[in-house]
Amino acid sequence: MYLVFRCDCGRALYAKEGVATRKCVCGKTLKVKERRIFKNVETAEDAVYVVQQMQEENYGKTGFTTADSIKFHRRF
Ligand SMILES: [Zn+2]
Repeated sequence: MYLVFRCDCGRALYAKEGVATRKCVCGKTLKVKERRIFKNVETAEDAVYVVQQMQEENYGKTGFTTADSIKFHRRF
């Protein structure tokens, strides 16, 4: 099982279940148990896929932000 979660900087990360901490590229070390888990998946491939989806959601959109998309992001 792999856990997918977000860093405070907004990046999506994944960790194998049972791993205590995960370091984000922003330099912050996250305690996996204290994060709100976005998704549990079975394989590393699935975890990578979910992370990519989350990243695209963050950075892949065109330059403007609507009220709707802010509401959407806050659910996570
Ligand atoms: Zn980060």
